[in-house]
Amino acid sequence: MTKPTHTHRAQGGRFEQVDEQMGGGVLEGQLLVIYRDIDKDVTSATTEGDWRQHWRPIAKDDCPVCLGAGHDQIKKAKHQPCGGCFGLGKVKADGEKPADLWQLADVALGIIKRQQHELEQRRQAMALPEVAAALQAEKEARITDSVAHQEQQWRDGKGHGPGGRRYVGD
Ligand SMILES: [Zn+2]
Repeated sequence: MTKPTHTHRAQGGRFEQVDEQMGGGVLEGQLLVIYRDIDKDVTSATTEGDWRQHWRPIAKDDCPVCLGAGHDQIKKAKHQPCGGCFGLGKVKADGEKPADLWQLADVALGIIKRQQHELEQRRQAMALPEVAAALQAEKEARITDSVAHQEQQWRDGKGHGPGGRRYVGD
């Protein structure tokens, strides 16, 4: 059986990245990814950008049953935790299912540690003065936009301005 290399971020499923090639015609200059849907046995192609946006590579410690989704993919029951990983989406580093509670706790701890690490990096990035300035500028631009939009709505309105009837002349 072919081992899946990727899964769809939203729909799940097992996919194998087969090849990459440069597109021609309207796709001239674009890198295309050739991939196979293992379950349906259908080979298709998409742009590299679309591929990276909608599919993700399967890591070695992703659960081999649900491929990291954490819920039952076989019966497509999203509210049912996957039996292969107890709903965590991850298994042991060697790809094996945790055999007891301690091993399961290890897997969970690994997930938490990775997220803490990521969170810490985000916090540091957010604390940069350049990021704070960019966020503030974006917020101000949004407020200006919204005021301009409201004023436009008022001007386009048919005599119903703030405070009831708007004086329209004539
Ligand atoms: Zn699983």
